[in-house]
Amino acid sequence: MLILRAEHSQVRHLREFLDLFSQATGLRINFHKSTFVPVGGVTAELASDLASILGCPVSSLPQTYLGLPLSDHKLPAAALEFLSFKISKRIPGWRTSLLPIGERLTLTTAVLSALPSFAMSVLPIPKGTLSKMDRPRRAMFWKAKDKCSSGDCQVAWDYVFQLRSVSELGVIDLGLQNKCLILKALHGLFTGRDSPWTRWVKHSYLGTHPQVATPAWNPPRGLLPFLHPLATVADTLRSGAVEVPLVHRNSAAAAVEMEFIHACLSRISLTSSPDIHFVSLGPSTDFSTGSVYRSLHSSGCIVPGKDVNWVCFAPRKVRVFFWILRLHKTRTRALLHRIGCVPSPDCPFCPNRPKDTSHLFVGSPLCPLWSVVSPSGLPHVDADVSVLLDALSEDLPPMHPEARNRVRVILAVLWTVWKSRNRMVFDADFMSTPCILALLVDHLRLWVVRAPSRVDTSALLTWCQAIS
Ligand SMILES: [Zn+2]
Repeated sequence: MLILRAEHSQVRHLREFLDLFSQATGLRINFHKSTFVPVGGVTAELASDLASILGCPVSSLPQTYLGLPLSDHKLPAAALEFLSFKISKRIPGWRTSLLPIGERLTLTTAVLSALPSFAMSVLPIPKGTLSKMDRPRRAMFWKAKDKCSSGDCQVAWDYVFQLRSVSELGVIDLGLQNKCLILKALHGLFTGRDSPWTRWVKHSYLGTHPQVATPAWNPPRGLLPFLHPLATVADTLRSGAVEVPLVHRNSAAAAVEMEFIHACLSRISLTSSPDIHFVSLGPSTDFSTGSVYRSLHSSGCIVPGKDVNWVCFAPRKVRVFFWILRLHKTRTRALLHRIGCVPSPDCPFCPNRPKDTSHLFVGSPLCPLWSVVSPSGLPHVDADVSVLLDALSEDLPPMHPEARNRVRVILAVLWTVWKSRNRMVFDADFMSTPCILALLVDHLRLWVVRAPSRVDTSALLTWCQAIS
């Protein structure tokens, strides 16, 4: 891409340079395949005149450059449609119907969420486009397809976003990721290597007369408080801007923020050394998109068992199953009745008992499983599965080896009950208690094989031997 002023002399010089380049290297330039794009107040007459010197057809923006739409004005939402299309067209190529939900989670987090990263690192993506990009990700995770309806999603998409560090699935919130990636580019502008681009931006926009009123700076301005003339710490301290008596008019939240700013500024003493721009709370100038993402991400709603969901070595599909159970979204008959899918909430095997998670996992004919398990010190499970889930996060610290083993056993029991229930409902296979116990031991032994070598699994194996 070549950028020059719309003047006859400039265009003629460019044509000469290109012809000389062509003669010197023997490479032919296909002028008819290139385009001439007038930008700003160039008249149509002048544009066609200049284009004729080069022998290029006249075109207009937006155009695709390096795979992204390039424009001199705000891009319409349709120009970014290709991002959601890129995600959804990837899905039919996978044999998704054969994948369990855990593997679909991996593909969603590792592949689909990463596809728009390049575009997101340079363009602020509008909300409408972000939600279009979420649709195929959601469909892939919940339905193994590129399209799904809201009824196919067991848990609200906002919960899916929550971070692994607060126990959840770790699917990226694209809107927040977009902000972090652009912040990284802007951070590089101030602290990174000196380059013609950074010099040009600093000279044109951040020099002695910053032209930050240019519309191009509207999207990043919200992310760049230091573009505001009063926002440098030195200027703020010197001008005494924070001393303006606004306190009585501030809301309670604003008063807290003001107090925080006062506390931060009181610790600063100005020196003559150059400014440092940093994002973390320390003076380091290192920028990591991940750490900024984590600090900006709210932890959202936290439900019991948050620490134990992801510490065990059960397959991913089991952990996702447990995560759904913790959110009380397991598709039992009672829940299906509530959303209008089945006429009655009652258990087909126990008349007049609604088949909710408590009945299914604790009170159903499969519950003898718990009586075999509980002598090993399981929490008291009488009526409600939420009591069991609460007990998981109490008592022992979650990282204690004994607590972890307990979680693994409880998870294996819940999973076995779920699998036995599926066999009962879908295959009319009524398993006896010894058969279910054998299934439980099989699952646990399989999980032990999958465990990393640093994990001590001897207690679990002993337990399996004792009950089989
Ligand atoms: Zn029942």
